[in-house]
Amino acid sequence: MSRAYNFSPGPAALPESVLRQAQQDMLEWGDAGASIVEISHRGPEFMAVAAAAEADLRTLLSIPDDYAVLFLPGGATTQQALLPLNFAAPGQRADYVLTGHWGKTATRQAHAYVDLNVAASSEAGGFRDIPQAGEWRLSPDAAYVHVTANETIHGVEFRPAAAGGHAFPDTGDVPLFADFSSSIASEPLDISRFGAIYAGAQKNLGPVGIAVVIVRRDLLERAGQPRADIFDYRLQLAAESMLNTPPTWNWYLAGLVFRWMLDEGGVAEFARRNAEKARLLYAAIDGSGGFYRNEVDAAVRSRMNVPFFLADDAHDAAFLDGARAAGLIGLKGHRVLGGMRASIYNAMPVSGVAALVDYMQAFQQRHG
Ligand code: PMP
Repeated sequence: MSRAYNFSPGPAALPESVLRQAQQDMLEWGDAGASIVEISHRGPEFMAVAAAAEADLRTLLSIPDDYAVLFLPGGATTQQALLPLNFAAPGQRADYVLTGHWGKTATRQAHAYVDLNVAASSEAGGFRDIPQAGEWRLSPDAAYVHVTANETIHGVEFRPAAAGGHAFPDTGDVPLFADFSSSIASEPLDISRFGAIYAGAQKNLGPVGIAVVIVRRDLLERAGQPRADIFDYRLQLAAESMLNTPPTWNWYLAGLVFRWMLDEGGVAEFARRNAEKARLLYAAIDGSGGFYRNEVDAAVRSRMNVPFFLADDAHDAAFLDGARAAGLIGLKGHRVLGGMRASIYNAMPVSGVAALVDYMQAFQQRHG
């Protein structure tokens, strides 16, 4: 068997050690007499798995005690619909800042429930930068401000100002909600700056099918809007995210990924590796004399998803075929943008990006 370097945007590469552990646990879990996917979610074995996953995630992300953690079935899109239902009064204003495709998706999930205000958008410029915070038209009475921490398709990321980037703004008394699907756990984060953050697991946290929501507990007191129990974050918390049968396999696998990240040195270590990977790849693109190009404003370039284009798109198919033959998969760009995209999440080692850069340079020599 030879596993390729997998640059897929999500579902995405998982650490090999996690897959091997899962393979081993698949047949029998401890002395349960059955696999972890075959036993009750309320039994002691799975309850221990769930508790360890939450404890490890709290350690990994330094989640303050006044924040609740939910593990919910489905993806990030579902949370985009549940946020207004749980935190906005019917028809209340909610501010959205659009820096790419997924911010727009969030508005499509929310618009039926709120008076949706697009406070700022970089769409006119093709989502290649983040509007300056001073230009955001925020509403003082908004239920929340929603941003996308990292735009997985457009490759645009909020970055600490200290790193020369565009930092998350201070939204005062209006809580800041952020979609962290494609950058959670990629670097240290001050969670106390946010009212809620959420992420589908299938990039940095594990398999698709489960999402993590981290929410300031006092916000759960908000009445929100009429909704079914199953859509109610407060009830989910009271039921320990087990209002119905949870996706136990996904939860267990995410737990293995949390443990792996802690064992590797935690988010500080991943921040170091991710910075190195991004530096290598952008340097290769920028240093190619225009053979490859990334169009995102340098200050807000994503460390996780690097879209790039060949100067001559007639070479795209040959680039992808050659990449596959070289053991590099998942590089085809999203249909919205075309071209290529390398997703370089936590599970992608520096050696994988180095192999991609070598391949890109060799391809350019043949076709440049
Ligand atoms: N937000 C972001 C930033 C994403 O990257 C994605 C998926 N690629 C989504 C939301 C939608 O997630 P899901 O498919 O889990 O609903």
